[in-house]
Amino acid sequence: MTSHPAHKTHGAHGTHAASHGTGHSAGHGRAVALFGGTFDPVHAGHIIVAQAAQRRFHLDAVYFVPSSRPPHKSGSELTPFVHRYAMVALACAEHRGFLPSLAEAPADGATPHFFYTVDTIRRFRRDHPDDHVYFIVGADQFLEIPTWKNYETLLDLCDFIIASRPGFRIDALRLVVPPEKLGRSASHDPQKIQLRKSVIHLLTTVSSHVSSTEVRDRLEQKKNIHGLVPARVEEYILGQALYR
Ligand code: ATP
Repeated sequence: MTSHPAHKTHGAHGTHAASHGTGHSAGHGRAVALFGGTFDPVHAGHIIVAQAAQRRFHLDAVYFVPSSRPPHKSGSELTPFVHRYAMVALACAEHRGFLPSLAEAPADGATPHFFYTVDTIRRFRRDHPDDHVYFIVGADQFLEIPTWKNYETLLDLCDFIIASRPGFRIDALRLVVPPEKLGRSASHDPQKIQLRKSVIHLLTTVSSHVSSTEVRDRLEQKKNIHGLVPARVEEYILGQALYR
């Protein structure tokens, strides 16, 4: 098994107030979130989501995990991993506790490779057994979760932070959870779905219309993207003439 240098960076240790479902943190580890995506490119919506999650769950670290080639987006052309990773690293540079991750980097740096979230989370947990692990995902992606590899196992592996996204009904999220996964007693907290082995937290305080598609479209049309991506990412995109 490969180790992931970015995951070896340790943030502040401490206790955290969020309630935990997976019970695999002994209380001495960190609270960390993995935020997976194509990040083609990383944009202001991603940052808003990560900041809101960091605040609400007292996260010591948020790992941005650019995917090499996500199975569910296999038809589309992706910008090479190195560029997407570089942009994520630049975006992370501005925020304490945000870290770029090479967990789904192509082995030779270039050839795309399929990675499945279930395997990435499992590996992370094996490398960091004391950490309490969350997975951040947008509502649009979570609604697709039944199509992900071993999603029932994935639901047991970590807690989820689901970010609301304009146009996606947050109440529909419950429908994609298999009934047998639901906890015996329903949570009274409307922001929380209690599963038998984990918890799904709804992050309804965020609402950003920004998408990577919009950023790419605007660049193709030679429109400016000011404010849609972090300033350093904008500089990188323009400097490297990406998305032309
Ligand atoms: P694209 O437009 O290329 O499909 P995207 O904007 O959805 O890309 P991704 O890199 O696919 O960006 O997203 C990574 C994760 O961030 C996904 O879980 C996605 O749902 C979530 N996400 C992206 N943009 C937002 C947003 N504006 N609000 C909430 N979640 C978001």
